[in-house]
Amino acid sequence: MLHVVDHPLITMKLNLMRDKNCNSKDFRTLLDEISSLMTYEVFKDVKIHKVGTLETPTGCTVDKFDLDHEIVIVPILRAGIGMSNGVANMLPTARIGHIGLYRDEKTLKPVEYFCKMPKVKDPLVLLCDPMLATGGSASAAITLLKERGYSNVRLLCLVGVQTGVDKVLKDHPETEIYIAALDDKLNEHGYILPGLGDAGDRIFGTL
Ligand code: URA
Repeated sequence: MLHVVDHPLITMKLNLMRDKNCNSKDFRTLLDEISSLMTYEVFKDVKIHKVGTLETPTGCTVDKFDLDHEIVIVPILRAGIGMSNGVANMLPTARIGHIGLYRDEKTLKPVEYFCKMPKVKDPLVLLCDPMLATGGSASAAITLLKERGYSNVRLLCLVGVQTGVDKVLKDHPETEIYIAALDDKLNEHGYILPGLGDAGDRIFGTL
């Protein structure tokens, strides 16, 4: 299911990121902040359970809670790294895995070149990639995660197009997808329009 996280603070920050004159430092900061804000929405339905009690400074005893599932944040290299800190700031106990994919020049299919996941039993995995364009990388990353036994996967992106959303939901219909904006279309090079350009280049200043 697609969730467009529609909030004025997120829209304002994303709008600043779209400006071609937004420098890398500001771009990173804004992506960090939006990722934190979106995390609030992504996890609003997760269950918590009582793990004991704690005492407050006023001498009262209250229940102590933990999340039902451990959280694993998984940025898709390299642009996904721009989102993982913002998410992790909201989830201090979360662990972080990484997936690296490149596109084979002949087949144009995504190929795995790196995957390192923490050893966590039955986690809720939050896969991060700012741009949901063709959906090829996101879908391949979800397949890869499923092959390794991770079945509970949510996808967090910044900007997407319907083509990418359709691809992920066709291949993995159970996926919850969270984006801040659904843009118009892809151009002939696979860039999102109006979009914000190459997210990796803008995050890392490699333009
Ligand atoms: N990846 C990007 O970084 N930007 C796009 O517009 C599409 C894919």
